[in-house]
Amino acid sequence: MNSETQPALRPYILVVEDEESLGTLLQYNLDKEGYRVALCPDGEEALIVVDEKQPDLVILDWMLPTVSGIEVCRRLRQRPETRNLPIIMLTARGEETDRIRGLDTGADDYVVKPFSMTELCARVRAVLRRIRPGLAENRVKHGDLMIDRVAHRVQRGVQEVHLGPTEFRLLDYFMQHPGRVFSREQLLDAVWGSDVYVETRTVDVHIGRLRRALNAEGVEDPIRTVRSAGYSLDI
Ligand code: CA
Repeated sequence: MNSETQPALRPYILVVEDEESLGTLLQYNLDKEGYRVALCPDGEEALIVVDEKQPDLVILDWMLPTVSGIEVCRRLRQRPETRNLPIIMLTARGEETDRIRGLDTGADDYVVKPFSMTELCARVRAVLRRIRPGLAENRVKHGDLMIDRVAHRVQRGVQEVHLGPTEFRLLDYFMQHPGRVFSREQLLDAVWGSDVYVETRTVDVHIGRLRRALNAEGVEDPIRTVRSAGYSLDI
């Protein structure tokens, strides 16, 4: 895919479900709703995939091989980098529902099987809106930066900023995760897509363009270069 024609970044959802038909159905429907989706059939693998893919939300089945959904949830909550990662648990009716109802699993919401895709998608939207407003809203502000995803506009203070499509997606991604440091590889994956071959050096070129566009008139540079690590939005 030509990166210049890609739309603004879509939230990334990891589905952890060992039931193949349900996993595929979830993937199909979430993709249709405009999310990027990764599928994982196993609890232990899920813990690794979360680090690799850095999803914005996890849909986690309760009963999984190797490590149960509840244990995956507990471990994600223990790690500082995934402590606030939105998690929706899936459970079969009658399966420890009292514990889930109390949400002492650390999950943000739960959905009882069988469920309709309409219901699940509504829950996903609600959890994202509540926990990651930066992903669900059309307009996001951070510091003196404002990005409007629908109108495709960016402002710094009262100044209109004109960005190319790649710089727009880069800024969009940074504004979803202010303060977090991303490696060039992570930025490539998120902004260009993992199926596109681009050299990591390209990231530096686009960061340079983004900086020049944002930093007119001697204002403070909102993008921090973290030596040997990558970049973050610090404003
Ligand atoms: Ca299962």
